[in-house]
Amino acid sequence: MLIIMRAGASQSEIKSVVSRIEAQGLNAHLSQGKERTIIGAVGDGRIVNRDQFVVMDGVDRVVPISRPFKLASREFSPQDSAFPLNGISVEPGQIVIIAGPCSVESRAQILEIAHAIKEAGAHALRGGAFKPRTSPYSFQGMGEEGLKLLAEAREQTGLPIVTEVMAPEQVLLVSRYADMLQIGARNMQNYALLKSVGLGDRPVLLKRGLSATIEELLMAAEYILSKGNRRVVLCERGIRTFETATRNTTDINAIPVLKAQTHLPVILDPSHGTGHWEYVTAIARAGIAAGADGLIIEVHPDPDNAVSDGGQSLKPERFAEMVKQVAGIAGILGKTLAPQVS
Ligand code: PEP
Ligand code: MN
Repeated sequence: MLIIMRAGASQSEIKSVVSRIEAQGLNAHLSQGKERTIIGAVGDGRIVNRDQFVVMDGVDRVVPISRPFKLASREFSPQDSAFPLNGISVEPGQIVIIAGPCSVESRAQILEIAHAIKEAGAHALRGGAFKPRTSPYSFQGMGEEGLKLLAEAREQTGLPIVTEVMAPEQVLLVSRYADMLQIGARNMQNYALLKSVGLGDRPVLLKRGLSATIEELLMAAEYILSKGNRRVVLCERGIRTFETATRNTTDINAIPVLKAQTHLPVILDPSHGTGHWEYVTAIARAGIAAGADGLIIEVHPDPDNAVSDGGQSLKPERFAEMVKQVAGIAGILGKTLAPQVS
């Protein structure tokens, strides 16, 4: 349930409500709005008498949260979430573009692409060092060596880095290098991993599972939020359908649905959504037009020789053109591209 405090409720009134929630064996989560504080009382489903909170000083009203996801819901936090990401800012009205290769392949490759995407207007560098591959015989990523190369690219460009973590036991290692931890589609329901990144403080990019519903994506986010980490960005990356002309089917619907149901930022990955570089720019434009807060795009200096996902990777020049077009669409909606790192 949500305990909605009166505008101007005092800190001691808020504290008393929190203590009473905890005394009932529930967890209290605060959402500090511009005008009022909302306190989420979340637990294991046990029945708690609401009336005891209604009569407390500073309490305006008590309402149940209608959704199964609580902390991720707009009811809990009506305003869009915002947080800093090592030099850039994730906030409403500002489009963030994450770009880079599917996999970190070599020092020369990652440094070249990092400079090129920054020049083209990107805000953060992506690149997988631990790769979830369908075949165990495919390239599995450079591991820690790849993380070190990403860190060097960040040193040279200032771009924050986003990279995938595949298992709970990798979280500490990857967090030492990454500014944002990506949880891939195949791991969206790896609950041990969700809990582990939830206990840390690194922002998380949570990708929708290949066959996951929007509600399942939000419940996965809830695992992270419920452990204390509030900095979660959701990513639509295409779902499995009967269609074979594209690698996946980009669920554009998911963007306005998610924006209505959650305060968490929502970005789109048109690279995995389409699987073909020729369609990436069109679907990137569509995502921004539908209300996405950002994009994650695979860009490679030499896609023909990429070790993974070359066919869906843009060359830097095409990426630069995409950024311009996306800025145009954002402008129509009264949004801008977020300021880049200097
Ligand atoms: C990736 O970003 O390269 C990736 C493996 O994505 P997904 O988990 O969406 O397939
Ligand atoms: Mn990829």
